[in-house]
Amino acid sequence: MSARLWAGIVTLFPDLVTGSAAAGVLGRAVEQGIIDLDVFNPRDFARDRHRTVDDRPYGGGPGMVMQVEPLQAALQAAKDAATRRGLDVPVIYLSPQGRRLNQQIVHDLSRRPGLILLCGRYEGVDERLLLAEVDEQLSIGDYVLTGGELPALVVLDTVSRHLPGTLGNSASALEESHLDGLLDYPHYTRPENCAAGSVPEVLISGDHSAIQRWRLRESLKRTWIHRPDLLSSRSLTETERLLLAELFAEELKPAAG
Ligand code: SAM
Repeated sequence: MSARLWAGIVTLFPDLVTGSAAAGVLGRAVEQGIIDLDVFNPRDFARDRHRTVDDRPYGGGPGMVMQVEPLQAALQAAKDAATRRGLDVPVIYLSPQGRRLNQQIVHDLSRRPGLILLCGRYEGVDERLLLAEVDEQLSIGDYVLTGGELPALVVLDTVSRHLPGTLGNSASALEESHLDGLLDYPHYTRPENCAAGSVPEVLISGDHSAIQRWRLRESLKRTWIHRPDLLSSRSLTETERLLLAELFAEELKPAAG
């Protein structure tokens, strides 16, 4: 079977990426050949005997900046690997300045045959390299990490969940937070009763339409409480509108004074 996704990761810490990508669901996807992962270390493309990949910033200031040439050569090796596979793949730089990752972007990425993910370190990457080589910049949130490896793994992990064959039950990916603009409903498993409480009765009723309705209602309730912004940017079905009206009437009205 040819892989559903080829990922070329350009990183100064290849072991960090391959080690983390060997565990859990992602590890199984790599092992089963659903994801084909290659790492490219810019140090292997440095020209001096110290394998230098960074230097001080022009204009002064703190920290070091990743140099153009070793990165460009590592990216070229990644592009050549993609070309050998007949793949047209985007170069994505993980950066706090990029477009913020969300489920829609993940879904779109999962439809690509491959990705090249460029991980920065230090103060970042020489701007000329970004302008010449990068198609898109993605951020995993409004905070700054020490490197792009964890963000690259976040992208890879979440994209892997959308690839056929990665999750045991493909319905799992269809019923999760954010996919349809709502947060996920609560989950319960055995035992039915324990010191922490009991399982809601509807879930053991065997009535599938009642269960489905309860889950939708809980999704709406959680979204309304924790992420009302998601509700205001989404159109509601007639059933969802009725359930929300019911929730307002029953549960979300102010406590009687
Ligand atoms: N000076 C850079 C700036 O303010 O934009 C931050 C550099 S950061 C210390 C080093 C590297 O970590 C970046 O080049 C980028 O690859 C990665 N990184 C840090 N925060 C990130 C985030 N929120 N999302 C994606 N990548 C991030």
